[in-house]
Amino acid sequence: MTAHDQLQELRSQIDSINMQLLNLLSQRARIVTEIGKTLDELGSQHYDPAREAQMLQELEQANKGPFPNETIKALFREIFRASLALEEQQARAKIKVQRKTLDERTIITLPDGVTTIGGSEFQIIAGPCAVESYEQMDETAAALAARGVKIIRGMAYKPRTSPYEFQGLGEPGLQIARQVANKYGMFITSEIMDKSQIDMMLDYVDIFWVGARNMQNSFLLRALGAVNKPVILKRGLAATLEEFLYAAEYIVSSGNPNVILIERGIRTFEKWTRNTLDIGGVAVLKLESHLPVVVDISHSAGRRDIANPLARVARASGADGLMVEVHPNPPVAMSDAKQQLSIPEFNAMMDAIAAFA
Ligand code: PEP
Ligand code: MN
Repeated sequence: MTAHDQLQELRSQIDSINMQLLNLLSQRARIVTEIGKTLDELGSQHYDPAREAQMLQELEQANKGPFPNETIKALFREIFRASLALEEQQARAKIKVQRKTLDERTIITLPDGVTTIGGSEFQIIAGPCAVESYEQMDETAAALAARGVKIIRGMAYKPRTSPYEFQGLGEPGLQIARQVANKYGMFITSEIMDKSQIDMMLDYVDIFWVGARNMQNSFLLRALGAVNKPVILKRGLAATLEEFLYAAEYIVSSGNPNVILIERGIRTFEKWTRNTLDIGGVAVLKLESHLPVVVDISHSAGRRDIANPLARVARASGADGLMVEVHPNPPVAMSDAKQQLSIPEFNAMMDAIAAFA
């Protein structure tokens, strides 16, 4: 046999071993999937460090070379990691908020029977950071209604960073918001802080709102699952997209399918914007979930001077709408004065996105 023939022969042995390894890996993956299902039934965690340590120890004992133990362990750790990823991917595919088909989408219809979120319309949700007075709400609502906005912020409970800052008007604020919304034929969305407020707020709000700081309040999320009104859920300050979708899953799996996701920027090292708007995250959410996604161009930026480009980005991103804070006199606003748009600025923002219509 020539050296050349021998090389060919050895290489064909390697090819055949590759195929055997591939078959074994696939066989292993299928068994791992079965284990994943059983663990789900048992309600157990997929990642089991003790079991991994035991498998590595057995491999080490059985290893007769030529690979050193460290190499064998590194290779198998990689197999374990891939298996766990497969189990987790399958667990996610089962959750209700996960998109199952390419054209699946949740379309939420508001009580007028025509206004939708997640349908063909790009919805604008706008209004002041907080309800401050009847006059403030009335002036804002008149301007918003003139531009066709149907959903107004009627925030009466403000989760402020400092307990010494304005905390919202409470129920009187909701009364003002309801009165004004009725006058202009608009729907109210308002932030709920605690599940004890549900019954009272049902009288005033059309869409419940869970703020970033409450995204993982599972008791509140579950309670909103039992409510017959849509829920806007904001992404937490440092929540991954997976955590965000699992938070939505709490509401949906508790019986309320009408959840709207809002990307509101995440904390990064950047200082020139209040948060970093994760527009890639918006695209991923649209891909992974059938729920409507809205872009908050106010809290993500923390400044009003980039509202127009952010609104255009939101419009072009495939999101189902945008959320923007509008106040008749932003410099004197009781909260988020730096980011709220004046009415002329809001009109300019609407003009900036009109080109997409
Ligand atoms: C808000 O939109 O009113 C708000 C408080 O924002 P976030 O919860 O995203 O901080
Ligand atoms: Mn605000």
